[in-house]
Amino acid sequence: MIGTRGKRTLLLLGLLASTPLLGARACVTRTDYRERVLAAARSDPRLRVALVKEAPSVDISASGPLLVYASDATEPLLDLRSLDKVTVFSRLGKLVWGAQLLHTATVRIVPSAGVSVEINGAGYRGDVRIHADPKGAITCVNEVALETYLAGVIGSEVPTSWPDAALRAQAIVARTYALSRAWERRDALYDMTADTLSQVYRGLKFEDQVAFRIIHETRGVILVYGDKIFPTYYMSVCGGHTASAAKVFGESAIPPLQGTACGYCRGARRYRWPVGGKPVTISEETILARLGPMGISLKRLDRIEGMQTSPDGFATRVSLRHGGEIFTVSAREFRMALGPDLLFSANFEAVKEGSNFVFSGRGWGHGVGMCQWGAHGMARAGFDEREILRHYYPGAALARLSPSPPG
Ligand SMILES: [Zn+2]
Repeated sequence: MIGTRGKRTLLLLGLLASTPLLGARACVTRTDYRERVLAAARSDPRLRVALVKEAPSVDISASGPLLVYASDATEPLLDLRSLDKVTVFSRLGKLVWGAQLLHTATVRIVPSAGVSVEINGAGYRGDVRIHADPKGAITCVNEVALETYLAGVIGSEVPTSWPDAALRAQAIVARTYALSRAWERRDALYDMTADTLSQVYRGLKFEDQVAFRIIHETRGVILVYGDKIFPTYYMSVCGGHTASAAKVFGESAIPPLQGTACGYCRGARRYRWPVGGKPVTISEETILARLGPMGISLKRLDRIEGMQTSPDGFATRVSLRHGGEIFTVSAREFRMALGPDLLFSANFEAVKEGSNFVFSGRGWGHGVGMCQWGAHGMARAGFDEREILRHYYPGAALARLSPSPPG
């Protein structure tokens, strides 16, 4: 959902061709940033972030007053002064709140101003919806103002000790990515997840003054291509060249997402791997077990090979061989099946040693869009956020979201 109070509006004030991005900085004292961002949040677009997906239950608590509504009802079901931990689960498709059957499949938790709701022990700003699906699984969605959501993303995605230009570039791409997902998923239950599949968002604990300052300085600034928002993918380390969105995601790649050379992440830990003499070894048995759910029923595996790799080095597909049997799968799905923190990127080679495969490669992540460590390297070399974004998204321009209309 984009918009406030149910409105799905997204208005641009026009491109920021050469106007300074950071005009507000000089007149704001250091401690004001959090208050300014939070005060402005009332008119921000809302995002829906799934914190828990299809789980058996969720634990909820709050340190102050809150109201619990059945779906979009106007009269609350529960009016609580505070909430000790309660476990919410489903019985026959209806929610059970502790020991109380609520006779509804969806509730909306609205905390009082300044109160945060804890979901499985972590605090979040904004409202929370809990849904029970017909099978009884629980999904928990945080409805949070765009800019306060970003304050929770910045510190989760990169260290806030990084140079300001890299943090500002990160804020702009995270804001743009969030809005592009919200638009694309406007009819779905939620816009994004809170993990690396979307953007890492761990809520209050990962907010800090630097994140609020960066959000304040870049407030409402996004990237557009033509006059359209696009999914500003980004990843940790590209390993020397970013990948084409067309190859990795099967999307029609606009010029900003076609991939570009990057010499700025060379100092990153996983620019090339293995690192520190620690080989990336995955057993044949583990690989075969993880390929099973993809419908691949090889009994043994002789060879794993990346295919369609030029010019950026990232494979589009992977071939899997045993004797005369060959399966080919999407490289992205293969990496996800093995585990994105185990096989760091689709830019790899694999050698069989005994009953193991030993992987070597470049980069960490899907490879598309801004290289976070490259942005860090550019910022340290003296480039500003505009130059960083121009480098990783060639042809894109900065624009500013309008303030939301009142009401
Ligand atoms: Zn890079």
